[in-house]
Amino acid sequence: MPDSIQPTAFGLSRRFFLASTAALAVARPAFAATIKPDAKSALIVVDVQNCFVDGGTLPVKGGAQVVPVINKLAGSFENIVVTQDWHTPGHASFASTHAGKKPFETAQMPYGTQVLWPDHCVQGSDDAALLKDLKLPTAQLIIRKGFHKDVDSYSTFEEADRKTSTGLGPYLKARGVDTVFLTGLATDFCVLWSAVDARKLGFTTYVIEDATRAIDLNGSLAAAWKQMTEAGVKRIQSGDIQTA
Ligand SMILES: [Zn+2]
Repeated sequence: MPDSIQPTAFGLSRRFFLASTAALAVARPAFAATIKPDAKSALIVVDVQNCFVDGGTLPVKGGAQVVPVINKLAGSFENIVVTQDWHTPGHASFASTHAGKKPFETAQMPYGTQVLWPDHCVQGSDDAALLKDLKLPTAQLIIRKGFHKDVDSYSTFEEADRKTSTGLGPYLKARGVDTVFLTGLATDFCVLWSAVDARKLGFTTYVIEDATRAIDLNGSLAAAWKQMTEAGVKRIQSGDIQTA
């Protein structure tokens, strides 16, 4: 009996294997890119600036690696917005502004706890410029944030006082955008705050994970994904977006 069962079992599993392989071969391309951005979708490219990559004043590990991913994504979007961290000299978010403080320590500000950073992204400096390899000729808007000397702005929608709008939300709504796709630097600070605020403003919100990189300060990356997930932000990969 075992002799007669074994070939049958083999035959079954082989057929199953072939069927599975065929199904995968058919399913994969559709699986790989299920999201098609439309006229109501906007790609938001957060802070892909010299300050946040190697050689900059506040480098995010692997930060420049987002550039080819974002350049490729750009072809799938009618609406593209670029943001820049754009601080005054002596900005409140700089450790050097606070006597006795070092970068990555915190300070109490009227609007809450502020992480203190090395001086970075000072207005008009090469450090604050967008990466030259970023190719976004169809981008319609560059929004600058953090330009009020006493208030930081991780979010591209609302400053850290949680009162002052950057104007981006009303801009997108006036143009009929209801869905945003966030990319850029850094996942656990400016992308996080922007994504959570986008949800608060009622946008369907995606973060394209492989088009971001993180600072990951004291577990901040894991905390960021938890917070974004709880806020209803969808975590996807660039391969999930249909290319134009
Ligand atoms: Zn900053």
